[in-house]
Amino acid sequence: MRNRKRPSLMKTLLVDQLDKVKKGMPTFFVKHLKIKKGSVTLGERLAKQREILKQGLIEASNTAKEFAAFLVGLNKQPALIRYGLSSLVVIMIVLGVFTYARASGPCAVEIDGQRVAVVKNKTLANEIVNSLIDEQQRLVTSVKPDQSITFKTALFSWGEVLNESEYKRVLASHLSFETIATGITVNGGLKCAVKDQATAELVLEELKQTYQVDPGFITAFEQDVDLVDLPVQANRVLSVEKATKLLKGESDVSRYYTVKQGDTIWDISSAMNVSAEELQAVNPDLNPDKIQIGQQIKMVGALDPIINVVASAEKTVQEEIVLAQEVRRNPNLPYGQSKVIQQGEKGLKEVTYHIVAVNGMETERKVLKETVLKEAKPQIVERSSQTMIASRGLSRPAGAILSPFGMRNGSMHTGVDLSGAYGSPIAASQAGTVIRAGWYGGYGNCIDINHGGGVVTRYAHLSSISVKNGQSVEKGQTIGKVGSTGRSSGPHLHFEVIINGVPKNPVGYL
Ligand SMILES: [Zn+2]
Repeated sequence: MRNRKRPSLMKTLLVDQLDKVKKGMPTFFVKHLKIKKGSVTLGERLAKQREILKQGLIEASNTAKEFAAFLVGLNKQPALIRYGLSSLVVIMIVLGVFTYARASGPCAVEIDGQRVAVVKNKTLANEIVNSLIDEQQRLVTSVKPDQSITFKTALFSWGEVLNESEYKRVLASHLSFETIATGITVNGGLKCAVKDQATAELVLEELKQTYQVDPGFITAFEQDVDLVDLPVQANRVLSVEKATKLLKGESDVSRYYTVKQGDTIWDISSAMNVSAEELQAVNPDLNPDKIQIGQQIKMVGALDPIINVVASAEKTVQEEIVLAQEVRRNPNLPYGQSKVIQQGEKGLKEVTYHIVAVNGMETERKVLKETVLKEAKPQIVERSSQTMIASRGLSRPAGAILSPFGMRNGSMHTGVDLSGAYGSPIAASQAGTVIRAGWYGGYGNCIDINHGGGVVTRYAHLSSISVKNGQSVEKGQTIGKVGSTGRSSGPHLHFEVIINGVPKNPVGYL
C-alpha cells in the first residue's frame, strides 16, 4: 500500500462501501460499532475502534478485507492523518447506517402523524399510494384516503426500508377509503351501494328486465325502492352484476345445512324449500340413505329476493274448449263393448285475463271477460257395465298434446304440454299415492303421484290443487285444475311420466 495512492483508494472504497450499505449488506458494522466512552484516551478509543472495525471487516468481502488492511496501515501514519482519516471513515460508516433522507432518497411515510414505513424514495412512496387509490377507484367516481398521508425526511435505519410489496401491504392495512356512492334502499333499509345514480338505475332496470314476462307486461317493484347518495367505504361499492345478484337473492356465498339427529334428505329439502333432486344436483356425492349427523349439505343458492318484480298485464287470448268424455254404462251392451253415441266437438272462446307474475312466476290469473265463440260438445260413449275392470295403463289427464316431449329451443322438455282451458279439471292418470302437492319452482303448483313399480306421474302449472301429500287417489279422480303457474307461457297442463326417476316420453305410456 503506497502513501500517494491512499486518497483515491479511500474514495473508491468508501463509495464501494456505501453502495454495499445501500444494498443492506454490512449489517455487522452496526453490531461492532458500540464504542463505550470512559476513562480511556482518545488514542486508545480510536485504536479500539480500528480493532473492532478490523474484526468486522475481516468477515466481509475481499474489497472490505483490503479496506481493513488499509485501516491497519493507517497506524503507521502520522497521528493527524491517522485520527483524521479513521474518524472520517467512522463518520462515513455511521452516515451509511443512519442517515437523513433527502428529496431524492429514502423517505418515511406517516399516516395520521404516525410513521408506518420507510421506502426507497418519495416517488415510490407516492406511486404505491396512487395505485391503491386506483384499485379502489375502479367501481367508484372518486376516492381519497380517510387518513392523512405525509412523506417526511427523517432519521431512520436501513433495516427499516421496506420493499414495494411490503410497503403496499402496510399501507393497505392502515388506509381506508371513503367515497360518495349511490345506495339502493328497500323499504327504507340500505341494501347495497353502487357507483352513482345512473349505475343504480341500471341495476334496477336489469332486475325488471330479468322478470319481464313479455313486452306487454308492466313491471313494478313490490317494495319501496329508493336511491340515496351517501358516503360509504369504497370497498363496499358493488358492480352492476353483483348488486343485481344480491337484490335477486342469488348469493355468491354457498350456504350449508348441518345434518341433525333424525333428519332425512326429504325433511331437509322441504324445510329449506329446495327439491331433493336439486340438493342431489349440487351435492353429487350425497347418498340420501346414508346422511350423517354433522354432515354439511350444500344448499342451492336461493335466498329470498330483496326486491320482488311484479309484472302485470291484461291479455286476451282465444282458447279451445274441450269437454271431458262422458261415459254412460249400458247393461245391455255385451261384455267389453262400447259405442260412441255423440261425437265430441271442440269449442272456442275468447278470454281476457288479468295476469300477475312475481319474479317471473305467475301468481294470479283472473278472468275479466269470457266470450264463447263456438260451443263445445262432449263425446258421449256408452260402455258395457261388464267392463269395470280397471285399466292398467295411464290415461291422458287433460286435452290434446300441444307440445311434445324432447328437445325444445335448445333445452329438454321433460314432458308433454296438454291443452286445457284455465280452470278445467285434471284427472289422475292412474291410481296411486300423492307424493308432492304444492309449489315446485318453475313447475308452479305441482302434483306428483306415485303409482308403484317405479312409475310417477307429474302434473304442473296448476291453478289449484285439490289433493294432499300422502293421499290415495283413484284413476280419473280430479286432482287439480289447469293453470299457468311457474314458468309457463299460458294455461296448459305439463304432464310427465317418470320411470325410476327418469322422465320418459308420456306418449309411450298413454
Ligand atoms: Zn311443458
